[in-house]
Amino acid sequence: MPSGRTHEAINLTFFAGLAAGYAYAKSQGLTQEFETLLSPQTVTLFSLSYLVGSFLVTPDLDLAENNVRAKRHWGLLGLLWVPYGTMFNHRGMSHTWILGPLTRLVYMAVVGLALAYAITFLAPYFGYQVQFQAQLSSNWQELALGALLGYYLSQWLHLIADGIAPDHGRKRRKASRPPSTKPNKN
Ligand SMILES: [Zn+2]
Repeated sequence: MPSGRTHEAINLTFFAGLAAGYAYAKSQGLTQEFETLLSPQTVTLFSLSYLVGSFLVTPDLDLAENNVRAKRHWGLLGLLWVPYGTMFNHRGMSHTWILGPLTRLVYMAVVGLALAYAITFLAPYFGYQVQFQAQLSSNWQELALGALLGYYLSQWLHLIADGIAPDHGRKRRKASRPPSTKPNKN
C-alpha cells in the first residue's frame, strides 16, 4: 500500500500530465468547442479541488485518529478530522469509489456548518457581529461540476494506487467481514 507521500507524487504527476494535455489542446484550438464548459473559473476550481483532494482531503483521513499525512497538512485544524477517523475503518467505506469521497464532503459540510453556527453564536459575546451569506454565480452548475470532478478524480487515483476496484463497496457488503484492524503506515 503506497505511503501518503507516494500518493501525493502519483497525483501530482497525473495532474502535470493533465495540465500539459490541456495546454496542448488549447494551443491547437481544440478546447474552443467546450468554451462554456471550460471557462477559466471552472478550470481553476477543478484544479483547486483536485489539489485539495490530493493533499488535504484524502481517503486516508480514515486514519485521522492517528497521525496521518493529510491530517498533518491541516495543522491544528487536523484535529477536526479525528472524529472522522474514529467513525470509519481504514480502507472500509472511506475507500469506496462513490460513497467514500461523499462521506468526506458531507463530514466537512457538517463540521463547517457547526463551526459557522458556533462563531455567529459566540461572536456577540466578544463584541462582534458575524453574518454568513451565500451567493451563487450564474454559472454555478458548471463550477460545481468542475469542483466535483477535480475532487473525485483525485480520490479515484488514490484508490487505483491502493489497488481498490470500483466495486469495492459491493464486495465489502457481500463479505461483511469483521472490522479491519488499523495499521498506521502513513
Ligand atoms: Zn488509502
